[in-house]
Amino acid sequence: MTSAVTKARDVMREARQRASSAGHSVATGAAAPGVVLPDLLGADLSGVRIEAIRDKVTAAQRVTPLEGLWLLTRAPLAELAALANTWRFRYNPERRVTFVIDTNPNYTNYCDADCLFCAFYRRPGDTREGYVQSVSELMDSIGRSVDLGATTVLLQGGLSDELPFEYYLDVVRAFRDRFPDVHPHLFSPPEIGKMREVSSLGYEEIFAALFEAGLRTMPGGGAEILSDRVRARISPKKQSAREWLEIHRAAHRGGLRTTATMMYGHAEQPPDVIEHLECLRRVQDDAGNGGFTAFIPWSYKAANTPMERQFPDSPGPVVYLRVLAVSRIYLDNVRHVQASWFSEGKKAGQVALHFGTDDFGGTLIEENVLHLAAHEVETTTEETIELIREAGFQPARRQTPLYDVVESY
Ligand code: SF4
Repeated sequence: MTSAVTKARDVMREARQRASSAGHSVATGAAAPGVVLPDLLGADLSGVRIEAIRDKVTAAQRVTPLEGLWLLTRAPLAELAALANTWRFRYNPERRVTFVIDTNPNYTNYCDADCLFCAFYRRPGDTREGYVQSVSELMDSIGRSVDLGATTVLLQGGLSDELPFEYYLDVVRAFRDRFPDVHPHLFSPPEIGKMREVSSLGYEEIFAALFEAGLRTMPGGGAEILSDRVRARISPKKQSAREWLEIHRAAHRGGLRTTATMMYGHAEQPPDVIEHLECLRRVQDDAGNGGFTAFIPWSYKAANTPMERQFPDSPGPVVYLRVLAVSRIYLDNVRHVQASWFSEGKKAGQVALHFGTDDFGGTLIEENVLHLAAHEVETTTEETIELIREAGFQPARRQTPLYDVVESY
């Protein structure tokens, strides 16, 4: 372990030098939560003009937080679609829509974060329903999905004090050894935070060690809404918005690419959504040519979660389309925005392709988290191809979260 970390520190130093010589920021300044929220709460939107926004989008200029809030709450839906598509086709000029054959297994469901929106976790000590997979059990389960064609594995778990940092490194090494042609997309920021707790290492050392073991991308789960007043209501024990953002910054400095997510439809208000997007946009500004590969929003699924009674209703497809389109317009420095057939339904996923998105997500051979919230939707590669075609686009399969297209249909 010591030599792995020492070696990892060297790798990190080299990565920092690479970033520095490429002109990327290596400063640790955070996009603190609340950066624009105070200005947006109760803001007067009467001065916002759609003509000015149209001109900005046409000229590839940035919209302001106030304009973002107006778009989210007041813009006509058709206007939003047109503006979002301007950005979508600027970044992705072809009528191509990508997807990936992937799987989302979990190595443990033990978790001490007690998020009120989560139906997946079990408390530490729950011997009836709790589990931790050994590295070899995990590899066997991943192997079953690889046999079915998975080219990317998105792996996440609960937050457990019982797992040492070496476990995570072993997972990455075993993965690289056993599935050299499959992409490991492992461990979201809350898990990285737990690795820091159990190892006492800094984020830079953690990412350097993970990089050395073979990890190149990190999924952006655990974002929910990057506004601490919302997090205090739905996940008070989980890392803060600032921490989540800092972990992405550390990953980017360490040479990893990451994805950004958002789970909306619970305790947030529209200004919190814009705060979230603003935080992401600032992190991406500082990431140079790397950073986030994609943004992926989805709505909260209430069933079987502790806050089901508090927020029982799904926001529905129209809100989803608004969130997607505004995200595409606001995140002018993120190349891909993903539509989700899985979280919003296949028909809404198809419509979403006309609201600024250019990717249809993964086929999800295995998925447990939303399944336990009574959300059960399945697809196949053939159906995914057909859904994209039926929506008026050309399907193309990518291998990994890095948008490397390997086959068009
Ligand atoms: S969402 Fe993640 S961190 Fe929160 S309780 Fe569930 S498993 Fe734990």
